[in-house]
Amino acid sequence: MINRLAIVGVGLIGGSLALALKQAGAVGHVAGCGRNQKNLDKAVQLGVIDSYEESISDAVKGADIVVLAVPLGAMQSVFVQIKDVIGDATVITDVGSAKQSVVDIASANLGPRIGQFVPGHPIAGTEKSGVEAGFASLYQNRRVILTPLDSTDPAAIATIDAMWRQCGASVEYLGVGHHDKVLAATSHLPHMLAYALVNYLSRLNDHEEIFNYAAGGFRDFTRIASSDPVMWRDVCISNGDALLTLIEGYKNELDQVSAAIRDADHEHLLQLFGKAKSERDSLIGL
Ligand code: NAP
Repeated sequence: MINRLAIVGVGLIGGSLALALKQAGAVGHVAGCGRNQKNLDKAVQLGVIDSYEESISDAVKGADIVVLAVPLGAMQSVFVQIKDVIGDATVITDVGSAKQSVVDIASANLGPRIGQFVPGHPIAGTEKSGVEAGFASLYQNRRVILTPLDSTDPAAIATIDAMWRQCGASVEYLGVGHHDKVLAATSHLPHMLAYALVNYLSRLNDHEEIFNYAAGGFRDFTRIASSDPVMWRDVCISNGDALLTLIEGYKNELDQVSAAIRDADHEHLLQLFGKAKSERDSLIGL
């Protein structure tokens, strides 16, 4: 049972966590914090949080667990505001989509309290954002990756592990760098492709007609281009090296397809598409 939970950044991810823990009966009081009072009033109205504070330092005081659920670009300022008010028994975690940048910021700010910080990333979300987009079942049967450091207190890890399990998630462990490489491939690169495709097509002269005829496949492929621009700018800046390597590799792959089309190379096209089909089919267990 978490007596007092502080959520800094009451949006889709932080709000859904609060709702899931409330539904599980696993939390007493949830205190929220953010920049915008209207959002926080809405969060209280929706029953996501029980109260909010204007200052982050007031919100985290006396909390058993502090969850940092702000965009990656806001982490530095949040850690600066909490570092001197965190109690001995408080466990801090985050939900950022890239981990090295958050770990660097936490290490620079928390000093001897770094053992109380458990970096985390729920592999769940939607293309929507804000507290109104949150829902209690977001983490049901989804995975949460924790990337603790050698210095992380095992009791703090156990606390955050249990918190996510209460939300219906399974918890897995990865090294920080490994997490960032894997997520660059499975999540960050696909978002770049969706944004680039929509931008490219929208600049074509007949873009209205193109979008008019868009069928299910196009909608599926581009759904994630509706994701929050601030969040994705921050992910790119935070995980730039891993992402740039993958974008270069992907461009090479497209070059291969272009060459095969230019050469009308039937065999190569069949081989490229056949390999991708069998990989994808086995991935989703067909
Ligand atoms: P969101 O819905 O936009 O929520 C972010 C919240 O942070 C907002 O409620 C915002 O409220 C608050 N905020 C922004 N800047 C702040 C600041 N400087 N100080 C205090 N509060 C601030 O975004 P989200 O999708 O929940 O994403 C939050 C985090 O989860 C990000 O780090 C993201 O990388 C990670 N994540 C997202 C997903 C996903 O699919 N969306 C999945 C996994 C992890 P105010 O405007 O009122 O301040």
